[in-house]
Amino acid sequence: MTERSKLQPPGGHRRVLLHSCCAPCSGEVMEAMLASAIDYTIFFYNPNIHPQKEYLLRKDENVRFAEKHGVAFIDADYDKDNWFARAKGMEWEPERGARCTMCFDMRFERTALYAHENGFPVMTSSLGISRWKNMAQINDCGQRAAGRYEDLSYWDFNWRKGGGAQRMIEISKREEFYQQEYCGCVYSLRDTNQHRREQGRPPIEIGTQYYGRSNDTVES
Ligand code: SF4
Repeated sequence: MTERSKLQPPGGHRRVLLHSCCAPCSGEVMEAMLASAIDYTIFFYNPNIHPQKEYLLRKDENVRFAEKHGVAFIDADYDKDNWFARAKGMEWEPERGARCTMCFDMRFERTALYAHENGFPVMTSSLGISRWKNMAQINDCGQRAAGRYEDLSYWDFNWRKGGGAQRMIEISKREEFYQQEYCGCVYSLRDTNQHRREQGRPPIEIGTQYYGRSNDTVES
C-alpha cells in the first residue's frame, strides 16, 4: 500500500470538484484524494476530444474507475461545436500555445460554473499531472475560471510530486486503462500523426492501445 501525505485543500475545505480529462491522468488524483478522505465529485467536460469514438473510450474508462471507487461522476456536455468555434483561427497553433489556453479556459469555465451552482468551494484538475502539459499554463487557466466566483478557489496542487507521476503510470497499468496516443483535439491528432509519419511509424489506430498490454511510450 502506498504511503501518502495527508492532503489539505485550500481554505480548510473538504469538498472538491475534480475536473477529469481521462482515467490515466485522474487515477492517481482520485486515489490520493480518497486516501485523504476528501469528499469529491468528478466533472467530465472535454468537448475538445475528437473523434467521438475516442471521446467515448476515454469517458467510459473514467466512469468505470469512478464506479469502482464509488465516486460521483458528472457527465457534462460534449458540445464540440462550441469548442470548434472557439478554436477557429488557432488550427495551426503548436501544443501548449494559444489554442491550448483556450481549451483549458473553456473546460475550466464550465467546471467553475458547475462548482459555483452546486456548492463546491474548491475545484481542481487532473490535467497538470501529465508531463506533456505546461502546469503554469493550466494553473493560470484554473485560477482565471475560479476567480469568476467569490465562493470558489482553484486548488493548484502539483499532483506529479511525491511520486504522483510514477503512481499515475502504476495505476494505469494495474487497471489496464485505455491509453490515448494524442492530446485530444483533431489538430493534436493531425500533428501526432505527422510526427509519426516522419519517424516511419503508422498512424494512430484509435481504440487499440491499453496500459500494461504494450511497451509503447505515448501521450497520456
Ligand atoms: S492540443 Fe490538447 S490542450 Fe491543446 S487544444 Fe488540443 S486538446 Fe486542447
